[in-house]
Order: sequence, then C-alpha cells, then structure tokens
Amino acid sequence: MEKINTSDIRNLFPSDDGNLQQRNLMLELMGQIVTGVDELKDPESVYLKGQKDRGPAFYSDIVNESRIPSTGQPLQDVNKELLKLLYAHPYHTKYFLTNILPMASIPGVLGMLAAFMVNGNNLWDVYGPAGAEAEVKVVSMMSKLVGYNASVSGGYTTWGGQGAIFTALRLAINKYSSAASKSGVPSHLYSFCSEAAHYSLYKSMEATGLGSDNLIKVKTNEDSSMNVSDLKEKMEKVIQSGGIPIFIVATTGTTDAMGIDNLEEITGMADLLAREFGISRPHIHADSALGGFFAFFNEYDFTLNPLSFHDEVLISLKEIQSRMRHLHLADSLCFDFQKLGQTPYSTSLFLVKNAEDLKLVDLDPDETPYVGHRGYGQYHTSYTLECSRMGSSISIYSALLAFGIEGYQRLLAQFVEVNIAFRRTLAREIPEAIIVNPNNPGIITLFRIYSDGQSGYGSELSGHQSYDQVDQTNQLNEILFEILGKGRGKMFFGDTKKHLYVPTSDGKRLALYATKLFVISPYTQLEHVEEIVGYLKAKVQETYTEYRLKHPGGILHEEVYR
Ligand SMILES: *Cc1c(COP(=O)(O)O)cnc(C)c1O
Repeated sequence: MEKINTSDIRNLFPSDDGNLQQRNLMLELMGQIVTGVDELKDPESVYLKGQKDRGPAFYSDIVNESRIPSTGQPLQDVNKELLKLLYAHPYHTKYFLTNILPMASIPGVLGMLAAFMVNGNNLWDVYGPAGAEAEVKVVSMMSKLVGYNASVSGGYTTWGGQGAIFTALRLAINKYSSAASKSGVPSHLYSFCSEAAHYSLYKSMEATGLGSDNLIKVKTNEDSSMNVSDLKEKMEKVIQSGGIPIFIVATTGTTDAMGIDNLEEITGMADLLAREFGISRPHIHADSALGGFFAFFNEYDFTLNPLSFHDEVLISLKEIQSRMRHLHLADSLCFDFQKLGQTPYSTSLFLVKNAEDLKLVDLDPDETPYVGHRGYGQYHTSYTLECSRMGSSISIYSALLAFGIEGYQRLLAQFVEVNIAFRRTLAREIPEAIIVNPNNPGIITLFRIYSDGQSGYGSELSGHQSYDQVDQTNQLNEILFEILGKGRGKMFFGDTKKHLYVPTSDGKRLALYATKLFVISPYTQLEHVEEIVGYLKAKVQETYTEYRLKHPGGILHEEVYR
C-alpha cells in the first residue's frame, strides 16, 4: 500500500475532485479494515481472535500510557491500531445468544458510509439535505407500516429508545400544561409503566424533574404484559388524591421476556377513565423499540402463507402480530433500528401520530415545526434535544430498501423458528430447566432451574413459596449465571434478575432470576440447537454439583444427579 504524505494535510481527507489516486487510497484503507476483521473471525467462538488481557489494571494502564502523538502516524499504522481494539471483541456468530445486540447488516453499514461521505448536519435540511430527505422517507414508510396517517404523523431519528421515551414524556408534560416549558414542571403529574418496562422512563422522570417518586409501576400478568386492572386502580388512586396521570408507557415487547402490553385495552380504559373524571387522556407511548418490528407481519397473509413458514412459526407470528397491529392506537412510538432493524448504533426512529404535538416542545411555536410538513429550507429540528444530528436516517433507509418487508419477515421468522426449536429441545433434554415465559412467543426464551424437581415455578407464581425459598432458587440460578459467564467465549447467554415479581407465602414480593437465550444472529440456525442445549445441559449439571458443595445436606433432590 502506498504511504500517504501527511505533510500535505489534504491527504488526510477525501478528494474534492474525485481523482482516482485518492479514491483508491481510501478504498485500500477501507479494505485493510474489512480484511483485518475477517482475519480475526472464528465461527466457533463468540469472540474475535487476538490476545487481550483485560485484567484489573487494564484501564489504569491505559490511562497512564495514553498520549496524543506529536506527529501523525501513517494511516495504515493507525488502521493496525484500530484493528487491535477489535481483538477479542464479541462477534455475532451462531453462539451469540445474549441479548438484543445485533450485527450491523451490509446495507446498514453502507447507509452510514453514504452519510459520512457528505457529513451533513441533520439540524437543518440545508446543511443536511440527504439526511432530511431520508428522514421524511423513513418516517412516512414506518408510519404507513404501523397504520398512522403519514400526512398527519411525524417523527425523527434520535438517541435511542430511551430518547424516544424522554421526548414522549416531554410531550405529555406540555400537553397537560402549556406553561410548563417556562415556569417548570408541576409536581402533581404522574407516569405509569409496568414492572417489566425498560428503565428509560425511570431515568426520564428524574431528568425532567418530575422525579421517580411520580412514576407508578403497574403489576404484570404472567405473560409479562401490563395488568390493565392494576393500571386502572392505580390511576384512580392518583386522581382521587389530587394527582394527574399524564403519561402511560405501554411496552410492546419487553426486553427480557418479550411480553407485549395490550394497547387496545390500555387506550380503551384510559379513554373511559379520562371521561369519567373529566381530565384529558394521558399521552400513551408504545415502547416498541424492540418488538415493533413484528409489525412487518401486519399485511402478511397468514392463510396463504406465501413464505411457507412452518405451522408453529405461523402461530407464533400471528399471536405477536395480533398485539402489534394495535400500535397505531398509541400517540407515539419508537423503532430501534439498531435492534431488529439491522443497522449500526444509533439509529432509533421516534414517531408521533400527530406531528402537531411536536409544536409543544419547539423553540418557536409560531412556526410549523415538523418533518415533512414544510418546504425545503424551513425544516430545522428545534424540537429535538440534540442540536447537531447525525444522518442516521440514511442507514435506516438503506436497510429498509435492501431487506424490504419480505426480508424482515424472513429474518424474524427464522429467529422465531430457532427459538421454538430451542424451547422444545430444552424441555426434552433438561427437564429441570423450566421455561418461565412460555406464553411469550418470539425470539427470547427465559428459563430457570429448580432444586426440587419441576413443581417450583407454579408454586412460585401462586405465592405458595416463602421469600427464603424463592431466594434460594434465585441463588441456585445465579450459580448458573456465573458458570455460563465463565464460558461465554464459547457461547454467550444472557440473564435477568428481574423476571416477574411474585408474591410469597410470608407476604412479600420478589423478582425471579432466569437465564436468557436471545436468538439474534442470522448465523444461528436450526441445526445448531442440539449442540447449544447439550452445552447448557453440562453447565446445568455443573451448577447442581457446585450448589450441593455449598449447601451440603440441602434441599436438592437426588433425581437431578442423573
Ligand atoms: C432497548 C430498549 C430501550 C432503550 O433503547 P436504547 O436504544 O438503548 O436507548 C427501551 N425500551 C425497550 C423496550 C428496549 O428494548
């Protein structure tokens, strides 16, 4: 590769005239990165190759050694340093089963590349016309997918599912009080979400100044969806004590169990309650960051089944879609494209049913403020919390074009199919491992092992176990977490300490620990399921052995020592 003369500082930039020499140089440098990563790949491991000693002194050593070089290094050498950063990095092979941490697809990466080549600023369409155009396109595409009226809806790309929740809460506050943006947030406003919701709302309550004490957590049903009667009771209680419910987050696809809140019931109940008490209906945000992508099946013909999905897959998809088809009832929602949209971080899309709502949080309320409702040159995003914005809409656009509805359907159906096979094999091979989200079809399986045969889960759910008993099973499961953690270079599983709060026989409540298998890599195929479960089986046996050492003469049933 040709060495770049960095004394001419222009050589560190792409050309301004499209000359062949600079283009080839840039392509070669990109090729060095792509090839370098390929050389680190090992499909039998969850980590890229390369030695990294991330010991206790790892970061302090870095702090001591890091200095800006006084003269610039050749780009080829810089690339070598970049590749070293990737040594032993987790990679999305077939054994990558830990969480919603997907691979970035080729169209997703190319979309970013296209955006970076012009480096527009999405703050204003004159500065970033490509990003603005793509943003209007993807807002319209996704609006139509969920059933919003695209000429009334609006939205923009933002900083994560969390950013979407934050802005939805800003909208809720300003809908209730037009003075709030000037005089501050009234203290008697309340938000609601389920116990299984993402902590984003908790953080947003803190950051808006409402305070997390004004966040009311609603109980969940056994399928991790929000218990709507409990929501109703808690809203009534707030109103009767002088508070105002302004915001409900309905999680449509929880991050642990993939529970899906019933938007039809929630919006219906909230409407009735608002009428009864003569208040405005709270703003309802569907936290569809993860699960919203199953709306790609909204138009799928489940009878003709044109993509020939297996019956079981079809049943699962239909069940998920039967809840996702209500997304349009929400006042706002979100698609985290860096999750199931197959694009790089951060590519989250926030959608509002009525773009007019964005006026409430705009700097200049006299102006029509929102994407797609203004002429060229008038589109600046003073309603976003960011000032400068990246053109991440271009990556989203690229993925939507490349996958198409059918591509997403195939990918999601593959994840679902592998997950079904995993559940079946797990039940057959490791009967001590009980699936604790059996009523949540999808791409996630949560399972929990018990020390006394198979009776545990049912009696936990029905409140027949004491706090100590449940806690002891949690400790058993934590040993499994640790054992799986040690082996995660081979297979990388997830876990949660927050699956379902159960009542105990001594009048307390606590959450269940469970191991998580998340089908997220396109490289995890049906034929790998047996091996994955075989690996788990050995780790579960190890767990029982270790548990018995820790609890000699404990309650462990002999039967599990087969
Ligand atoms: C991931 C996730 C979030 C947070 O999204 P970020 O993009 O990480 O900010 C919020 N809610 C749900 C349901 C999620 O799955």
